[in-house]
Amino acid sequence: MRPAVFIDRDGTLCDEVGYLNHLSRMRIFPFAVEAVRLVNRSGWLAVLVTNQAGVARGYFPESMVAEAHALLGARLASGGAHLDAVYYCPHHPSAGEPPYRQDCTCRKPKPGLIERAAAEHGIDLARSFVIGDRYHDVQLAWAVGARGVLVRTGYGAGELVHLSARWPRQPDLVADHVLEAVERIVSESRA
Ligand SMILES: [Mg+2]
Ligand SMILES: [Zn+2]
Repeated sequence: MRPAVFIDRDGTLCDEVGYLNHLSRMRIFPFAVEAVRLVNRSGWLAVLVTNQAGVARGYFPESMVAEAHALLGARLASGGAHLDAVYYCPHHPSAGEPPYRQDCTCRKPKPGLIERAAAEHGIDLARSFVIGDRYHDVQLAWAVGARGVLVRTGYGAGELVHLSARWPRQPDLVADHVLEAVERIVSESRA
């Protein structure tokens, strides 16, 4: 069993632009490639986990999600990095039409995406981390017995300023961005 670093997409590896409904809006952070490469070289699995409710809302087809992940994958590959797996939730509990409109078990912070990843890739969740820019990414980590890292990119800085006083439990780690998060994970743990 290997540990994984589960990484959120929007606001963590690329700019949070609301709904990424066209590839022209995808701005991958310059440090994202090095972050994923460091995960790869350190023996963790690198797994993308992202909510894409824009599919359920009818803002874009599910194929748009695949296009975005192909572009992300190509950019990572050009820097010698790769994602070992990609999992996304296209659902929303109340918007749009079935089958995308459903109270699913995979919309973060529900644990479905990570449970599927763990089953399919033999992941040791107790030694794994989730990195994201929303508190719900941190809650997702705790829901599966992993550790949660909040980054200040995307919604992170604002959540820390405006919401963190109300959080019942603080993130295990707070980092300026995903590269700093991975550097600290790697230096403080062993895959
Ligand atoms: Mg995010
Ligand atoms: Zn779902």
